[in-house]
Amino acid sequence: MTQEYAKPLPRPNRLSQPFWDGAKHHELLLQKCAACGHVWFPPSTHCPRCLSVEYEWSKASGRGKVWSWVVIWQRYFAAFEADIPYNVAYVELDEGPRLMTNIVGCENEAIYCDMPVEVVFEDVTPEVSLPKFRPQAS
Ligand SMILES: [Zn+2]
Repeated sequence: MTQEYAKPLPRPNRLSQPFWDGAKHHELLLQKCAACGHVWFPPSTHCPRCLSVEYEWSKASGRGKVWSWVVIWQRYFAAFEADIPYNVAYVELDEGPRLMTNIVGCENEAIYCDMPVEVVFEDVTPEVSLPKFRPQAS
């Protein structure tokens, strides 16, 4: 990518690095509890359900549904100005956790609650890919 990416980028830490490494490889990785099977996001040191510290990073289906969304019509950040109006959405994954993201591949007016969506990855820099969601192909 020759043009510099002006929007905020994730700053992975020790806990979230596997998530961002997965995204770079276009895989949605989530922590899964080895004791009770619970899957969670955002990353944490222990299972929020049973408090076990034993977990693995497992590949999520990448499928889910729109839980909520807003359309931004106001200029809050200069780097997003060209995108106005743009959406910010919560997607509830089939595995349970909700991710804040953008819905792509359809008009803002076409978004609705429980809309089936699937992950796509946007390679925004050579190092960073962001998970976004598009309507599921039927
Ligand atoms: Zn657990």
